[in-house]
Amino acid sequence: MVFLKRIGGRKSDELRKITITRDYTKYAEGSVLIEMGDTKVICTASIEDKVPPFLKNTGTGWITAEYSMLPRSTHSRKVRESSKGKIDGRTQEIQRLIGRALRSVIDLKSLGERTIWIDCDVIQADGGTRTASITGAFVAMADAVYKLYKDKVIKTMPITSFVSAVSVGIVNGEKILDLCYEEDSNAQVDMNIVMTNKGEFVEIQGTGEEFPFTKEDLDCLINLGQIGNKNLIKAQKEALGEISKAILGEEIEVV
Ligand code: UDP
Repeated sequence: MVFLKRIGGRKSDELRKITITRDYTKYAEGSVLIEMGDTKVICTASIEDKVPPFLKNTGTGWITAEYSMLPRSTHSRKVRESSKGKIDGRTQEIQRLIGRALRSVIDLKSLGERTIWIDCDVIQADGGTRTASITGAFVAMADAVYKLYKDKVIKTMPITSFVSAVSVGIVNGEKILDLCYEEDSNAQVDMNIVMTNKGEFVEIQGTGEEFPFTKEDLDCLINLGQIGNKNLIKAQKEALGEISKAILGEEIEVV
């Protein structure tokens, strides 16, 4: 693999420094601060004992996500969407992506008729905010769901796999993992890869608008995504400690 000189001296297949802090805020059932280099996102998971009308009396639960960037999370102040009165296309796309990613690793039947509200609030944006949101929100969701299991509200752990996400791209002709803003804004190809701990792909979003890419490029980017997600899931497992075993289906003592 060719290594290019990157900001911070990173190798092309190296993630930024990851920090996952659990129980970051007081009230939500699950709350996490995820830091990927200078990108920082607070992710909370809140449990509500009801489901949207289309799921009423089905015995099935639901997960939905909201995403936003604080006005001064970016280089110049971004007007709050609530003061504009409408949610822009980018935000809608991101919150749906987060919801789909998390729903792909949970058995909604064993969650029962309850909704998990995921809120991802970007406090500092330096590229990869949607992917950091997915990786952090998974940990917040695991904490919230584990509380239900521990309190015997649900009989089994409904989470079937870990899920994480990372960006990859081509910048100055080089394929790189986990782009920061500077790299992202100069990228010819930009891709987000969502994966489980079983090595399955949940979603791949890739664009080479003015620079179409080849199958060979795609294979190389997917390989980088696999490396990144493997390391992100390792960080999630370390952050969750004992709870990881319940997700991986190992017997653990519930206290
Ligand atoms: N960004 C920004 N203002 C915006 C949207 C994005 O400053 O309104 C910056 C921010 O650093 C973000 C990066 O551009 O992380 C890349 O944005 P993109 O839409 O690709 O989403 P992300 O990579 O954050 O998932």
